[in-house]
Amino acid sequence: IYGEKRRNARGVNLNIRSQYQPLMDAMGRHMETTYRARPLLAFEVTDAPSRSHEVPSPYDRRQPVGTVQWTTKPQAEQALDAAWDAFPRWEATPVAERAAILRRFADLMETHLAELMALCSREGGKLLTDGIDEIREAVDFCRYYAMRAEELFAEPTRLPGPTGESNELVMGGKGVFAAISPWNFPVAIFCGQVVATAVAGNTVLAKPAEQTSIVAHRVVELLHEAGMPRDVVQLLPGDGPTVGSVLTRDPRLTGVVFTGGTDTAQIINRALAGRDHAPLPTLVAETGGMNAMIVDSTALPEQVVADVIQSAFQSAGQRCSALRVLYLQEDVADRVIEILDGAMAELHVGDPRDLGTDVGPVIDEDARQGLAAHIDRLKGEGRLLAETRLDSAHTGNGTFIAPVAFEIDGIEALEREQFGPVLHIVRYQAGEIDRVIESINARGYGLTFGVHSRNESFADEIAKKVRVGNVYVNRNIIGAVVGVQPFGGQGLSGTGPKAGGPHYLLRFATEKTVTVNT
Ligand code: GLU
Repeated sequence: IYGEKRRNARGVNLNIRSQYQPLMDAMGRHMETTYRARPLLAFEVTDAPSRSHEVPSPYDRRQPVGTVQWTTKPQAEQALDAAWDAFPRWEATPVAERAAILRRFADLMETHLAELMALCSREGGKLLTDGIDEIREAVDFCRYYAMRAEELFAEPTRLPGPTGESNELVMGGKGVFAAISPWNFPVAIFCGQVVATAVAGNTVLAKPAEQTSIVAHRVVELLHEAGMPRDVVQLLPGDGPTVGSVLTRDPRLTGVVFTGGTDTAQIINRALAGRDHAPLPTLVAETGGMNAMIVDSTALPEQVVADVIQSAFQSAGQRCSALRVLYLQEDVADRVIEILDGAMAELHVGDPRDLGTDVGPVIDEDARQGLAAHIDRLKGEGRLLAETRLDSAHTGNGTFIAPVAFEIDGIEALEREQFGPVLHIVRYQAGEIDRVIESINARGYGLTFGVHSRNESFADEIAKKVRVGNVYVNRNIIGAVVGVQPFGGQGLSGTGPKAGGPHYLLRFATEKTVTVNT
């Protein structure tokens, strides 16, 4: 494939093999190693270890990445004790020292780029290009939050007051946080949550997604190597009902930072709220989306299709930000669908280790079955518009779903977010635009949103009316960059504040004013 003159769907020029080859060579040995992950706690484990769980690779379920030992309930309780004890000392550690650990950690992740990418590929099914973006984002989170922490926490802010009185605002940490993270960004979001809570002066119990515990284990090893004390960030691999519920029911837990499904966020919220004699909790949740894009008749169909392909199918559609519902104005709909059909026929679904692959696997068999049931239902209703071919020579032992596009009547027809490469298309007439916006807002999610139009005032007006976190005009709607497009939504999509944004750390901080009569 390397010799051919072609670009893949994301515009990656496959002829520049020389650019990727050194990285692929460096990944090589990490692609074979059998990893063993276990809880990384502040203390020696004395109780009997739990059973080891095998972690399969989504592109080939016969090739396990390794094993992971889950955290037992007594270990989770002991980890909470250690985090509780460590909090005052860590909060009193100068912010410059806390920030320096994050910067060393970022440097270490860059040094270990190939290994982390190999694990993202083996455990998370990520393409090489997605793996690079993933580690880049994790590094950006560390450096950005280190900078913001020093701006916010280094010195108290002097406030105005009458003569004879001094007033200061002093920032501190809140206590012990659980970071409950998703498998779709097993390094970037995992790191973002952990380092943000820690650099703000809190101690952290990190529970990675079950599917991606091995890469999380490697990341926390590097974080400890960078100087993060072992009682400040502990790793608790395990499932939600065991580890998650021990943590969220304990009155010593100050709060949770969570990324995942809206239903799970609601379970966590109820658990935190149901505790007796516990402080009022902090919940920072980044949840699902039912993200829409509106295309009017002035848009450029070729550009629309390029951006739709990226938005709906990059990372096999397994992004909270991914496009789920494409609204096409009737006058342009047939043309866009025709080009889309051609573009989807060109996509290659297959092994993420191959540079010619555009769409890798979905995370596991449960995900595959859920998506397949949805696809079968819509196919049964005769609503198929376009699909990519699945070639079993490339997908035999993995959990793959080929990109597919259906026509539906409106966003309200979708019961739940379909977390995969499934695009829904709705046609609308020019006069119906207000109703379209109303129904998108009424659906209750509010994460990303796109508009394609060469009519600037149309795009501006729509951008103002949609209640979402991230609006993108005349481009794709994924791949928010730290410090550039702070990421996060509203309503059913999350609580805010936005990750990678200037206010994120504030939610993990206390503010105290000190007034002195001088
Ligand atoms: N920040 C990612 C993006 O903009 C999505 C994160 C997620 O899927 O949770 O594509």
